[in-house]
Amino acid sequence: MINSIYRCEICGAESSNPVRWIVIHCSETQLIIHKWTKEAADAPHARHYCGEAHAQVYVSRWFESFCS
Ligand SMILES: [Zn+2]
Repeated sequence: MINSIYRCEICGAESSNPVRWIVIHCSETQLIIHKWTKEAADAPHARHYCGEAHAQVYVSRWFESFCS
């Protein structure tokens, strides 16, 4: 596989070399935040964010849906 393109789920930014991006794996009962590694990013159902701020947007949404 040559360079995949990753896309930030919040702002739509795209990168084939997302150095300081963040990966989140989550289910209904747990949310795991990873520093960017190719392994974490390519895992099934991984979500990708261009930085801490956008990862936090998702974390907040996740808590809201979890609590409602
Ligand atoms: Zn973003």
